[in-house]
Amino acid sequence: MVTTAVDRKDRIAALRYDYAAQPKQSVTSCNLCGATEFVILTHHDRYGYPVQAHACRRCGLVFLNPRMNAEAYGSFYNGVYRPLVSAFHGRLIDARTIQDEQREYARERAEFIRPFITDSGARTLLDIGGSTGVVAHHFVREFGLQGTLIDPAPLEVEQAQVLGLQTVTGLVEEHDFGNERFDVVIICQTVDHLLDVGGTLARVRQLLSKHGLLFIDIVDFRAAYLRNWSVEDATKIDHPYYLTEPTMVAYLRRSGFAILRSDYAADHLHVSYICRPDAADEKAMPTSASVDELLREVRYVQNSAHGAGLKA
Ligand SMILES: [Zn+2]
Repeated sequence: MVTTAVDRKDRIAALRYDYAAQPKQSVTSCNLCGATEFVILTHHDRYGYPVQAHACRRCGLVFLNPRMNAEAYGSFYNGVYRPLVSAFHGRLIDARTIQDEQREYARERAEFIRPFITDSGARTLLDIGGSTGVVAHHFVREFGLQGTLIDPAPLEVEQAQVLGLQTVTGLVEEHDFGNERFDVVIICQTVDHLLDVGGTLARVRQLLSKHGLLFIDIVDFRAAYLRNWSVEDATKIDHPYYLTEPTMVAYLRRSGFAILRSDYAADHLHVSYICRPDAADEKAMPTSASVDELLREVRYVQNSAHGAGLKA
């Protein structure tokens, strides 16, 4: 069966999720560089919800503005997120069905990090936004680690408990880990979902042991709009942030991480990084040329004959 745009619109409407009525907060300064001059790129997301994506004029960070507050995102992940993604794709995606996909992802990522973790003496793992625990569980088994997982979605954390992981239902920005430190921290397909990327990375830096490793990956925003040839289709309320290579690298350097290896994933959409703690370079910034290039490319995708033709 061919899924048409009309079917998709109907399926999303049937969820009766009132995005406009959700409590929101305005972003007044850039989470990466602190600048206050923004460029509004878009006015609705891929689901058709009225939401703007802004770009920081100084560093090129792209983010939703205004965006839902922590409480609204809490209820979003507790029952709206997976049904919404299912309605968008026209097939059931839930805490069970995503596990096959996560197993494949886990195998690939484990091989990427293996050279750095083997013989490193690492004993403990923290998976931030670890969903059903499939990835953490795989890492625990492959590398003999003790695994802890934190995620805001109760149904997914339930599945993670079944796999024998220590679990926390909540957000890493809000949870107090006390004096606990971890040898390996993984943030898989999660950074784009965070409410405060800079704050979380600073927190992770504190949670990481002296010789620890951080694995993190992004949905490359440029890859996302180039593959769909639509900037709107590359944005969604699930993602408060839209990272690119220049903005992610600046985030990592500012937060006190040195990048050991980067990887363009086989899906051509994700970019992964393995990092170790380093002195923070608080002035690290994307070049102004990279910002100009991003804005020029966004305008090109929005206005080229190819893009206009598809939308007509
Ligand atoms: Zn900025």
